[in-house]
Amino acid sequence: MGEQLKGQCLCGSIKVAVTPNSESVDVCHCSVCRKWTAGPYLALSCSDNVEITGDTITTFRSSEWAERLFCSRCGTSIVWRLADGSGENHVNSELFNEASGFPLGTQVFIDEKRDNYDFGQQTNTMTGAEVFALFAPGENSND
Ligand SMILES: [Zn+2]
Ligand SMILES: [Zn+2]
Repeated sequence: MGEQLKGQCLCGSIKVAVTPNSESVDVCHCSVCRKWTAGPYLALSCSDNVEITGDTITTFRSSEWAERLFCSRCGTSIVWRLADGSGENHVNSELFNEASGFPLGTQVFIDEKRDNYDFGQQTNTMTGAEVFALFAPGENSND
Protein backbone atom coordinates (compact mmCIF):
# COMPACT_ATOMS: atom_id res chain seq x y z
CA MET A 1 0.00 0.00 0.00
CA GLY A 2 1.30 3.41 -0.95
CA GLU A 3 1.17 6.77 0.76
CA GLN A 4 -1.88 8.98 0.91
CA LEU A 5 -2.32 11.19 -2.15
CA LYS A 6 -4.41 14.35 -2.30
CA GLY A 7 -6.00 15.96 -5.33
CA GLN A 8 -8.95 17.93 -6.55
CA CYS A 9 -11.19 18.45 -9.57
CA LEU A 10 -10.57 21.17 -12.14
CA CYS A 11 -12.68 23.78 -10.31
CA GLY A 12 -11.48 22.77 -6.85
CA SER A 13 -14.96 22.07 -5.46
CA ILE A 14 -14.21 18.39 -4.92
CA LYS A 15 -11.27 17.27 -2.81
CA VAL A 16 -10.06 13.68 -2.96
CA ALA A 17 -7.66 11.83 -0.67
CA VAL A 18 -6.73 8.24 -1.41
CA THR A 19 -4.29 5.55 -0.38
CA PRO A 20 -3.90 3.37 -3.48
CA ASN A 21 -3.46 -0.39 -3.26
CA SER A 22 -0.28 -0.07 -5.29
CA GLU A 23 1.80 2.64 -6.90
CA SER A 24 0.68 1.87 -10.42
CA VAL A 25 -1.90 3.26 -12.84
CA ASP A 26 -4.43 0.88 -14.34
CA VAL A 27 -6.07 1.63 -17.65
CA CYS A 28 -9.58 0.87 -18.88
CA HIS A 29 -10.30 0.97 -22.60
CA CYS A 30 -14.03 0.13 -22.37
CA SER A 31 -16.46 2.15 -24.46
CA VAL A 32 -18.13 3.70 -21.40
CA CYS A 33 -14.86 4.94 -19.90
CA ARG A 34 -13.76 6.32 -23.25
CA LYS A 35 -16.97 8.25 -23.65
CA TRP A 36 -16.77 9.43 -20.01
CA THR A 37 -13.21 10.75 -20.25
CA ALA A 38 -12.55 11.35 -23.97
CA GLY A 39 -9.89 8.67 -23.79
CA PRO A 40 -8.88 5.57 -21.88
CA TYR A 41 -9.56 5.88 -18.15
CA LEU A 42 -6.35 5.99 -16.09
CA ALA A 43 -7.04 5.09 -12.48
CA LEU A 44 -5.58 4.18 -9.12
CA SER A 45 -7.04 1.01 -7.68
CA CYS A 46 -8.13 1.66 -4.09
CA SER A 47 -10.10 -0.25 -1.51
CA ASP A 48 -11.96 1.72 1.15
CA ASN A 49 -9.17 4.25 1.55
CA VAL A 50 -10.96 6.94 -0.44
CA GLU A 51 -12.26 10.25 0.94
CA ILE A 52 -14.26 12.45 -1.41
CA THR A 53 -15.69 15.76 -0.21
CA GLY A 54 -17.49 18.63 -1.92
CA ASP A 55 -21.07 19.63 -2.63
CA THR A 56 -20.81 19.28 -6.42
CA ILE A 57 -20.35 15.49 -6.32
CA THR A 58 -22.81 13.87 -8.70
CA THR A 59 -23.38 10.14 -9.06
CA PHE A 60 -24.25 8.46 -12.35
CA ARG A 61 -25.27 4.82 -12.29
CA SER A 62 -23.48 3.58 -15.42
CA SER A 63 -24.43 -0.08 -15.15
CA GLU A 64 -26.28 -2.54 -12.97
CA TRP A 65 -23.31 -2.90 -10.66
CA ALA A 66 -21.24 0.27 -10.99
CA GLU A 67 -21.50 4.02 -10.60
CA ARG A 68 -19.36 6.97 -11.62
CA LEU A 69 -18.88 10.14 -9.61
CA PHE A 70 -18.06 13.43 -11.28
CA CYS A 71 -18.10 17.16 -10.55
CA SER A 72 -21.33 18.79 -11.69
CA ARG A 73 -19.59 22.16 -11.98
CA CYS A 74 -16.45 21.39 -14.04
CA GLY A 75 -17.18 17.87 -15.28
CA THR A 76 -14.05 16.20 -13.91
CA SER A 77 -14.31 12.42 -13.63
CA ILE A 78 -13.61 11.39 -10.04
CA VAL A 79 -14.17 7.67 -9.48
CA TRP A 80 -15.63 4.47 -10.90
CA ARG A 81 -16.82 2.21 -8.11
CA LEU A 82 -18.97 -0.80 -7.42
CA ALA A 83 -22.43 0.43 -6.45
CA ASP A 84 -22.87 -2.18 -3.70
CA GLY A 85 -20.43 -0.30 -1.48
CA SER A 86 -18.03 -3.22 -1.35
CA GLY A 87 -15.06 -0.89 -1.57
CA GLU A 88 -13.83 -1.41 -5.11
CA ASN A 89 -12.80 2.10 -6.19
CA HIS A 90 -10.90 3.15 -9.29
CA VAL A 91 -10.02 6.81 -8.80
CA ASN A 92 -8.95 9.11 -11.66
CA SER A 93 -5.15 9.05 -11.38
CA GLU A 94 -4.87 12.43 -13.12
CA LEU A 95 -6.19 14.18 -10.02
CA PHE A 96 -2.90 13.52 -8.22
CA ASN A 97 0.40 15.16 -9.12
CA GLU A 98 2.29 12.49 -7.17
CA ALA A 99 0.97 9.74 -9.46
CA SER A 100 2.81 11.10 -12.49
CA GLY A 101 5.74 8.77 -11.80
CA PHE A 102 3.66 5.63 -11.30
CA PRO A 103 4.15 3.02 -14.01
CA LEU A 104 1.22 1.60 -15.93
CA GLY A 105 -0.30 -1.50 -14.35
CA THR A 106 -2.91 -3.59 -16.14
CA GLN A 107 -4.85 -2.50 -19.22
CA VAL A 108 -8.39 -3.88 -19.04
CA PHE A 109 -11.06 -4.19 -21.72
CA ILE A 110 -8.21 -4.29 -24.19
CA ASP A 111 -10.67 -5.80 -26.68
CA GLU A 112 -12.68 -2.54 -26.66
CA LYS A 113 -9.67 -0.30 -27.31
CA ARG A 114 -9.94 1.76 -30.46
CA ASP A 115 -7.35 1.15 -33.16
CA ASN A 116 -6.35 4.83 -33.40
CA TYR A 117 -4.20 4.84 -30.25
CA ASP A 118 -1.79 2.58 -28.33
CA PHE A 119 0.38 2.94 -25.25
CA GLY A 120 4.08 2.40 -25.84
CA GLN A 121 4.66 0.47 -22.61
CA GLN A 122 4.30 -3.29 -22.44
CA THR A 123 1.83 -4.19 -19.68
CA ASN A 124 -0.48 -6.97 -18.61
CA THR A 125 -3.78 -6.84 -20.49
CA MET A 126 -7.21 -8.33 -19.86
CA THR A 127 -10.25 -8.60 -22.11
CA GLY A 128 -13.69 -7.63 -20.86
CA ALA A 129 -14.59 -11.31 -20.54
CA GLU A 130 -11.52 -11.92 -18.38
CA VAL A 131 -12.44 -8.98 -16.13
CA PHE A 132 -15.99 -10.25 -15.64
CA ALA A 133 -14.70 -13.73 -14.91
CA LEU A 134 -12.53 -12.23 -12.18
CA PHE A 135 -15.14 -9.99 -10.56
CA ALA A 136 -18.32 -11.97 -11.10
CA PRO A 137 -17.47 -15.66 -11.18
CA GLY A 138 -20.37 -17.74 -12.37
CA GLU A 139 -22.22 -14.86 -13.97
CA ASN A 140 -22.37 -14.15 -17.63
CA SER A 141 -22.80 -10.39 -17.85
CA ASN A 142 -21.99 -8.65 -21.04
CA ASP A 143 -21.53 -4.90 -20.69
ZN1 LIG B 1 -15.11 20.62 -10.18
ZN1 LIG C 1 -14.06 1.14 -18.41
